[in-house]
Amino acid sequence: MRIAVRAGRTVVISPDGANCVDVAKASDGAFGPDPRAVYWAWDAFSAWAACVQDFGEPLLIEELGPPSPDPRQVFAIGLNYRDHVLESGLQIPASPSVFTKFTGSFAGPVGDLVLPAGTVDWEAELVVIIGREADRVAAGDGWSHVAGLTVGQDYSERALQLAGSPPQFSLGKSYRGFAPQGPWLVTPDELPSSLTITCTINGETVQHGDTSQLIFGIPELVERLSAVVPLYPGDVIFTGTPAGVGGTRTPPRFLRPGDVVETTIEGIGTMRQRCVEPS
Ligand code: ZN
Repeated sequence: MRIAVRAGRTVVISPDGANCVDVAKASDGAFGPDPRAVYWAWDAFSAWAACVQDFGEPLLIEELGPPSPDPRQVFAIGLNYRDHVLESGLQIPASPSVFTKFTGSFAGPVGDLVLPAGTVDWEAELVVIIGREADRVAAGDGWSHVAGLTVGQDYSERALQLAGSPPQFSLGKSYRGFAPQGPWLVTPDELPSSLTITCTINGETVQHGDTSQLIFGIPELVERLSAVVPLYPGDVIFTGTPAGVGGTRTPPRFLRPGDVVETTIEGIGTMRQRCVEPS
């Protein structure tokens, strides 16, 4: 089952991604339109949505926002793929490295990315959305707290990210538009256990990884995070990026106006940002 958010209203997406149906209208007001309310009623909602057959409205990806636009909490994991840790010249972490992306940086799956500086980097990421409150949950039960998965970019302005001691990851990764997500949430039952994740710039592949390479997998992240703080329905977890970012290259490579970044996860979909200069 797939859901997305269009003009602030939750929609269920047809299996081919071409059509949708408004949740509040189709359920006679039982669910939605507010996405947050949908996640807080996830068990009943997902049982209803899985039975939707009539997708009457054509869908344009350009109209969509992030699948959980207003989460209570956003977690982002750094250094969670071995090859990315190695290219960064760092040690494999013994526990997840956690920061946040402030929700003011959220954006839909397609649009312009304003480059605030000359050191904006790309990080293709699998994003988890929580569907059932998780408070001290064991990894073995982790998946049952996940509503679904989507595609994300953890755009990062490296100069601000690495400024100061210790560096302040969260702000440098939270410029406007730096957390696009989408095009939709896909429930785990529709996906294989490992997913190919790819980022291209102007058609050139710069990242190509596989979520089976995650150091801390999704169930373990649910365990580690929920041991500290409860996870709430609608909460968003950026799970980290595989190798191939620009800042660790020799010489470093950063995004330039006119670049088109496409981020794809097998079985979920593709996002596209066009880089532009500040107006
Ligand atoms: Zn990241």
